[in-house]
Amino acid sequence: MGAPMELAAGLRQSTPGCLDGEALIEAVRAVARGPLAAVVEDCDRKGIYPESVLRELGALGALGVHHDDRAPLGQSGTDADFGLAIRAAAEVSRVCGATGFMVWCHQVCGVYMEQSGNPNLGGDVLAAHMLGRTLGATGMSNPMKTFAGIEQFLLKARRDGQGYVVNGTLPWVSNLGDDHYFGAVAALETDTDEPPREVMFIVRCDAPGVERRNCPSFSAMEGTNTWAVRLNNYRVDATNLLADPVRPFIGRIRGAFVLLQTAMGIGVTQGAIDSMWKVEPQLGHVNQFLEDRPDELQAELDELVARIMKLARMPYATDQEHLISVLDARAQAGELALRAAQSALLHAGARGYLMSSDVQRRVRESHFVAIVTPAIKHLRKEIARLSKPVMPQAVAA
Ligand SMILES: Cc1cc2nc3c(=O)[nH]c(=O)nc-3n(C[C@H](O)[C@H](O)[C@H](O)COP(=O)(O)OP(=O)(O)OC[C@H]3O[C@@H](n4cnc5c(N)ncnc54)[C@H](O)[C@@H]3O)c2cc1C
Repeated sequence: MGAPMELAAGLRQSTPGCLDGEALIEAVRAVARGPLAAVVEDCDRKGIYPESVLRELGALGALGVHHDDRAPLGQSGTDADFGLAIRAAAEVSRVCGATGFMVWCHQVCGVYMEQSGNPNLGGDVLAAHMLGRTLGATGMSNPMKTFAGIEQFLLKARRDGQGYVVNGTLPWVSNLGDDHYFGAVAALETDTDEPPREVMFIVRCDAPGVERRNCPSFSAMEGTNTWAVRLNNYRVDATNLLADPVRPFIGRIRGAFVLLQTAMGIGVTQGAIDSMWKVEPQLGHVNQFLEDRPDELQAELDELVARIMKLARMPYATDQEHLISVLDARAQAGELALRAAQSALLHAGARGYLMSSDVQRRVRESHFVAIVTPAIKHLRKEIARLSKPVMPQAVAA
């Protein structure tokens, strides 16, 4: 990755040291309630991409605390903190679900780069990513759904010298810009007697063979810079390779991928609860007859967050019980976001039905939490598959 390398030169010396722990959460909350809140309506209604906010979050450290080596943040010797990364992203989602989603896109792209062990994607390149000086994304919905038997691979790779060339189109990849990059997977063309095999790599938007096309309008998430991406003989080699073979790599990072995404559900739920309390002084006398009151939802959310924080202590665990718990937490985050956003609308009444209201925006954001990969239906399918008892080998009759 050429440009990020240049940007990263001298990075370690110039980083004064980002924030950690509660100080980071406080600072992220200030950015969310200040500069992000100021543009959230434009993001939603006009599709304005809040790039400066993402870069500010990176400078604070919010995009890098889940990495094993936190030296680029000025935090050498400090362990990766997935719980803190999730809490930071949840504070962003509480104000703007679309920006919270892009924080996840970037955070999870960092996971791909770090866990790949590819030196071309580590070192100063990863340092620039962790600080939000370069911006990354993820095109992994299609492979995740394909591995779950829901879809088929949309990108195809063929061997070419020491590397591969890739062709195909991904219909939606968010958080993209001219010099951004994202992780993707292509199915390798194999002989019929070979087992299926894939290759995972970074796509740079400014590389030859990469074409972005506009997506149709969405009901929300318009500020996410979401594009269809067409690859024409895109070259994959040692400079951008993430994993080959892919399946063991995905097996190792799948829990982290899903767990980080819970932040969006937590934040959208908390934002909905916040808006219910705002109308309580005027409407509490009648809202008390509604279900899913803010105190009830808060208790459920707190219990869920406590469970997620426990799971976040072992983000790369691969045992079945852990994985089912992660999938279940992600599904619950989606379901709670749906219920909370709907209840907030019932609590707010007509004032929540205005196009300018954060309450109705959050209803649309909660729909996205429920349908983005892994969608609730996808999560339930995976939980059912993993929970199936292993039958003893059938005895031949
Ligand atoms: C705003 C937005 C941002 C997204 N950002 C990302 C991202 O950053 N990275 C990423 O990997 N994925 C992204 N996705 C894709 C998302 O995670 C899902 O994979 C996608 O919404 C399809 O899931 P599904 O459950 O509808 O698929 P299914 O219900 O299984 O649908 C079956 C198939 O039909 C296709 N399909 C359905 N409707 C249409 C349509 N109108 N036009 C074209 N195809 C259609 C779907 O793509 C899918 O392949 C984004 C989607 C949206 C709406």
